Amino acid sequence: MTTAPTTTDPAGPVVRIAGLRKAFGEREVLTGIDLEVRAGEVVCVIGPSGSGKSTLLRCANLLEEPTGGEVEVLGVDVTDPDVDIDRVRTHVGMVFQQFNLFAHKTVLENCTMAQRQVLKRSRAEAERIARANLERVGLADRADAHPAQLSGGQQQRVAIARALSMDPQLMLFDEPTSALDPELVGDVLGVMRDLADGGMTMIVVTHEMAFARDVGDRVVFMDGGVIVEDGPADQVIGAPREARTRTFLQRVL
Ligand code: ADP
Ligand code: MG
Repeated sequence: MTTAPTTTDPAGPVVRIAGLRKAFGEREVLTGIDLEVRAGEVVCVIGPSGSGKSTLLRCANLLEEPTGGEVEVLGVDVTDPDVDIDRVRTHVGMVFQQFNLFAHKTVLENCTMAQRQVLKRSRAEAERIARANLERVGLADRADAHPAQLSGGQQQRVAIARALSMDPQLMLFDEPTSALDPELVGDVLGVMRDLADGGMTMIVVTHEMAFARDVGDRVVFMDGGVIVEDGPADQVIGAPREARTRTFLQRVL
């Protein structure tokens, strides 16, 4: 049985990033990021392509190794060389632009595999939890389908149900709707909105400004490997303080 990492301070932030740096070879793409996310908070990250948004998310669960600074997730210092990173990752759900479902497995199997392998749940329990989460994303009736039989939006909702089936304490989304046809975006955003309303702690990289403004508690604007502006969603999108944020928003709104 995998137990949740114990935070030294239960009221402490779910994510605490301080002075985070990341270089690829000679090139530093994150040059000192400070970011805290508290339990139940929804933080939307916006910014131009190449500004380091994905690298930031990937550093948060050690898909990339930081070259400097501190990253604490669920109270665990994930840059500690002795950290059991898999134990932390188990509690962090990640949803990408590409859904990464197993094509030869059914929807239900996609949602039960990690539960059985990582959490050691029985088949019956894993299936019960998977079906409950498929219900939550509106796909209870597609449990026996294969991914190729589903639309992109449905596949992304399966990816979300799969992540939720691991009982995450934090969900990271990296442009989850960017690969979807426009008419399929709304259903996925609706599922994410429900999650946010249910109190899930989320970091969402997105180009959907209406979503960021309505659902985000905070919006973080990144440019050139730094956080340029971080504040309440309405303020950052509705009345940005920084010229670079304004220029970006004028281009995308
Ligand atoms: P965003 O998600 O905001 O578009 P990324 O975090 O993907 O930005 O990328 C930030 C910068 O880091 C880009 O210039 C990108 O080319 C570079 N980069 C990202 N991943 C790698 C990598 N694995 N190797 C080298 N450069 C990378
Ligand atoms: Mg990206």
